[in-house]
Amino acid sequence: MRKKRNINPLKWIAWLFSPIQKNGAFFVFMFALGWICTQHEIMPYYLRNKGAEPYELSAPELFLDIYAVCCLLMLIPKKIRIWVKALLYVFFYGLALVDMFCYERFESTLTPTMLMLAMETTGQEASEFLSGYLNWDSLKDGVGWILLLIGGHFLWTIIRSVGARITKRMILPKVNESLLMIPKVIMGLLVGWCLYSAVSQTWDNKMAIKRLFSYDTIGQVEHEMTKKDCAKLYIPVYRLAFGLYANGLADTQIDQLKAASDKIVVDSCSYRVPNIVVVIGESYNKHHSQLYGYQKPTTPRQVAMEAEGSLVKFTDVVSSWNLTSFVFKHMLSLYAVGDSGEWCDKPLFPEVFRKAGYHVTFVTNQFEPKAKEAVYDFSGGFFLNDPELSQRQFDQRSTRTHRFDDGVLKEYDNLKKKEDTLTLTKGNLVILHLMGSHVDYRARYPQKTNTVFKPSMYNRPELTDKQRQILAHYDNSLLYNDSIVAAITQRFADKDAVVIYVPDHGEEIFDGSPYMYGRMHGANIDYRLARNEMEIPFWVWGSPLYRENHPYGWMAIQNAKNRPMMTDALPHFLMYLGGISSPLYRPELNVISPEYDVKRPRILKNVTDYNSLKK
Ligand SMILES: [Zn+2]
Repeated sequence: MRKKRNINPLKWIAWLFSPIQKNGAFFVFMFALGWICTQHEIMPYYLRNKGAEPYELSAPELFLDIYAVCCLLMLIPKKIRIWVKALLYVFFYGLALVDMFCYERFESTLTPTMLMLAMETTGQEASEFLSGYLNWDSLKDGVGWILLLIGGHFLWTIIRSVGARITKRMILPKVNESLLMIPKVIMGLLVGWCLYSAVSQTWDNKMAIKRLFSYDTIGQVEHEMTKKDCAKLYIPVYRLAFGLYANGLADTQIDQLKAASDKIVVDSCSYRVPNIVVVIGESYNKHHSQLYGYQKPTTPRQVAMEAEGSLVKFTDVVSSWNLTSFVFKHMLSLYAVGDSGEWCDKPLFPEVFRKAGYHVTFVTNQFEPKAKEAVYDFSGGFFLNDPELSQRQFDQRSTRTHRFDDGVLKEYDNLKKKEDTLTLTKGNLVILHLMGSHVDYRARYPQKTNTVFKPSMYNRPELTDKQRQILAHYDNSLLYNDSIVAAITQRFADKDAVVIYVPDHGEEIFDGSPYMYGRMHGANIDYRLARNEMEIPFWVWGSPLYRENHPYGWMAIQNAKNRPMMTDALPHFLMYLGGISSPLYRPELNVISPEYDVKRPRILKNVTDYNSLKK
């Protein structure tokens, strides 16, 4: 006989409580674990004792997430559920320990780069790493709290199982079922209210998480993360999922790049200019360069080089984006904005040079994979740090970054020494990637010896004292950069060489309202934004020997200096300088070619044509 189904709303309300009731310990201990993580791992790390607050919706979001897991657990038969819970405990506790350990050791929670490094690490490296880092000192603070919680959980489990054995032997009086309903309904109501409140508070973040995990490329993900309402990955499990997702996307593009590089064809190479040096700067506001008319002497050496006739400055150059990684991809790839497909469907120019017989050296003061690395560094560096692609691109490269950019010179000199013992090559391509004026500006130059500009030198009443100090730091970083680029040209003074200087993008530095520094990542691009963040200095320096050997080339460079250009076209100019004959070369993108397309649209961030912006 079938039971008569009786629909009792009170039962439904009481049922709301049962996922927690049936998984009481799981709910309590996992909530405590999440709470320790959210309250202790405050990002960014350097602000943790300076007023940065934990994620404000930690409690409702933890409640919602753990409740959802409890509901899923209810779907599993009880006998299996115990084992699933045990596995979940191992996973969540272990993950929280790793995440907290990273936070305290590397000042960052789990990142895509950390996962990438972990996946590339061999067993021996891992044990060396752990023996180097794991000690009593690392067991305090957050890690200690988690261990304490695990201990408490153990203890509670033992007490409960002993208690269960005792109550089994006792004969307990039967309690009336309907009497038990009352507290259950009250708890059900409470849970219902908590759920309603949690959903309404955390809905936006849940939608943002859904959006974050819906992209096809790592670049889109990076762009999403520049938005103000970007997802808060507030507990370790979300950060792990994000790390795996980001690495998955990066792997797809690496595969595309490898496929593109397999198709490189070089017909011949004349090594037109035997030494080609590309210096990639960082966050350079053109209008703070004395070379381009800034009132303060931020580039005395560049001005002197221009005066002696060895430096030609281009006056109308923009970057394709205001994010380092996007610019890097566009500037290294033979892809040009407007082409069909993606940047990773075309090969990168260093590999083309290498195939043509050039010896390619890469020194970067930014893109060495570091544990404490944000997604934008990951996005910019993954394709240069993939072991196979790196080997295809570069004959030699630096292996560490330095505090200041003079470290780039040291790295280059060291590599050079090694290289001289090898057989001489017909051509050298050297790519030097500086830290330049990346925020935080005061950390970009040796303050003790290189402070020239001071806040009091700025007649800017609209700015606060603090803002004037930031401004002074920025200008000092440009002056320091001037000494570095001059030193680079010195290293090629006796060779047949050109040095090309190109920063990745500009920077806001209190020029025009809203008065701010850094970069803005809103959807709208107006001239104010483009002027500060995309207009960049760009110059070519020719050594005495180069100017003597290549009078026509030098003339062509001088004649091209007022041509409009976007830096995604740079590889084609470089291929011309190298005398590389290949179907990949497009003269309409080579700024000094007679066939150069001066009317090419310069689409910023893939949306707005710079040429159409009102100045
Ligand atoms: Zn940058």
